[in-house]
Amino acid sequence: MVSLVMIVTGAGLTYYLYEKFYVEKQKSLLVVQGEELKSYYQNSTNKEEFKKRIEWTDKTSDARVIFTEDPMLLSAGIPYEEFTDNNLITFEERQHLLEGEKVIFVRKHPRFNQDILAVTIPLFKENQLEGAIFLYMSLVDVYEPFQSIRFILIVMFVVLLTLIIWIGHKMTNQIIKPLKEMETISQKMSQGDFSKRILVKKKDEIGNLSNSFNILASSLEEVDKKRREFLQNVSHELRTPLSYIKGYTEAILDGIVVDRNDIEKYVSIIQNEVGRMHRLVHDLLDLAQLEDDSYPMKCEPLPFAQLIMDVIERFELLASQKEIAIIRELDQDIIVNGDIDRLEQVVSNLLDNAIRYTPKGKSVRICLSQEENTAIFIIEDSGSGIPKEDLPKVVERFYRVNKARTRKEGGTGLGLSIVYQIVKKHDGELKIDSVYKEGTSVIVKLPLILI
Ligand code: ADP
Repeated sequence: MVSLVMIVTGAGLTYYLYEKFYVEKQKSLLVVQGEELKSYYQNSTNKEEFKKRIEWTDKTSDARVIFTEDPMLLSAGIPYEEFTDNNLITFEERQHLLEGEKVIFVRKHPRFNQDILAVTIPLFKENQLEGAIFLYMSLVDVYEPFQSIRFILIVMFVVLLTLIIWIGHKMTNQIIKPLKEMETISQKMSQGDFSKRILVKKKDEIGNLSNSFNILASSLEEVDKKRREFLQNVSHELRTPLSYIKGYTEAILDGIVVDRNDIEKYVSIIQNEVGRMHRLVHDLLDLAQLEDDSYPMKCEPLPFAQLIMDVIERFELLASQKEIAIIRELDQDIIVNGDIDRLEQVVSNLLDNAIRYTPKGKSVRICLSQEENTAIFIIEDSGSGIPKEDLPKVVERFYRVNKARTRKEGGTGLGLSIVYQIVKKHDGELKIDSVYKEGTSVIVKLPLILI
């Protein structure tokens, strides 16, 4: 487009300059012819010969050449007078002629309504004005060779103008419109409405920008949806224990419950609910910290088997109460680069789940092995298992397979989310395999420090 504009402007400019140059050239030609005739006049003694020469020049050149000896005619502006307008030669120009200077002008021919180029040369002999030579030509003839070029230029100009208008229109449609749309949609976004999208019609830069804008809108919508869900979940999680606590304290304080045994029972329920709220708030804060990208892990080389043994020790009482055997197959040589408290949290959360969801009398197997540069930690239980459709969601915050049951068992639904975040922060991998009603295997892979 830019080159097209340059070509047309260049052509127009060249045309203009060339035309100017051509007129100038014609002008100097007339002057040369006139000067030649003048010197001929001054050198010759034979007037008849000079007049013949004038006639000959008039015939052979493109210009009209006229000679007059009548100073009166000259002072009256003849022969331009034949144009019916004496003013064709101005008074001033006439004065110039009388002073012996030549007069050159381009002026409109009043009768034919066209420009003429004229040169008038005064002829002097012994300081006496004796006559004048007039050379003139219509500029229509001068311009004639340019007519076809001019036509081409006009066509080019019209085409260019149409093109510019067309491109302008297209630009408005393709650039301004989507930009305006983006502006409106982003205003809606700032007011909390993330549902609007831009219709992407083309795969050009604006199309790509619109696409990116839509992707941004979708992720913001998703974030907003998650935020709402989170708030709903938190308030739901808090509302239940709070209503228990409120109900039972009121019952005791209002004297509805008077039996000492009942009171003890209710207070113990209140204590449980307070414990659950405490765990919930603690886990939530923990998760919020872990989800923050800048939250650091205090990593150091750790003998992983020892860490696992320490955690198992804490669960031994619970396991023995449920008559669950904890089978351990631990490679003692494995050293990982990890945050001791956080990895203990991982093992503890996973073991807690394994024991919690495994029925009485069954077993939980804990393995630690290595494969190339990776430590592989597996907790395998023979418990309730997780249905296939729930498997991808169990690491989501507050997700529980069996909501009523797990609540009774005291889970917050945040344990696996915390585990997932910690493993991620250790550049590790978390995988959960499960067969419903048969058991679950949670596999944690961590980078190994090789010794
Ligand atoms: P919770 O605190 O409820 O245990 P988690 O995030 O640890 O929360 O687990 C989420 C859900 O995944 C649990 O509610 C439970 O339904 C399921 N789940 C986790 N671990 C196991 C397991 N070992 N066996 C069966 N289901 C499990």
